[in-house]
Amino acid sequence: MDYLPVFSEFECKKLEVKEEVEDEWFFHRLRWDKCYECPLGTPQKSRVLARGTIPAQVVFVGEAPGVDENVMGLPFVGKSGRLLEVLIQEVKVACPFWTTYAITNLVACKPFEGSDILAPQYPHISECSPRVSQFLELVKPAIVITLGIKASNYLNPNTIPWPSRSLLHPSAILRVGGLQSGSYTSTLNTLTEFLKRHVSKISSTN
Ligand code: SF4
Repeated sequence: MDYLPVFSEFECKKLEVKEEVEDEWFFHRLRWDKCYECPLGTPQKSRVLARGTIPAQVVFVGEAPGVDENVMGLPFVGKSGRLLEVLIQEVKVACPFWTTYAITNLVACKPFEGSDILAPQYPHISECSPRVSQFLELVKPAIVITLGIKASNYLNPNTIPWPSRSLLHPSAILRVGGLQSGSYTSTLNTLTEFLKRHVSKISSTN
């Protein structure tokens, strides 16, 4: 297994909400923190809403929280999240105009059955989609990056008004060798190229 830095090495592991959207974020949390709109929402589970900065230049949207995320109440804080952070920090070096990002998932509650983590199903994603839309409106990104096929099926140029690009999900990169793999390198190159293509839009956003 590759060396993956622990989260304390990253300042961005938490959520920073800028003053101008504090009220909107308060109401967003009020609406979704105790949501029971779909069967994934149980009293025992966290509503894993977001981490990063709001507003932000770039939004990453994955699929669903896992075990670590459910415990910490923050998305992408397990091994996949650590790989994503390494990727982000590397791309930032190549794209110094990019400073802020926020992260969420298609669903805010961990899908599971017993100890098995399952993929969220269409009804769950559909019930949670107003939350994702609200979140994107709050973040006001220049671009949207989807992680994995499911996220790219739901958020793409046909469904959202922002430029978007699909990347491999970090868990898929971990399965084929992590940081040493060709998949990691190609994902790094794809994200760098996409950000550079939208440099003016990103630079003019918070
Ligand atoms: S996954 Fe989304 S829609 Fe379903 S209960 Fe959780 S917050 Fe509500």
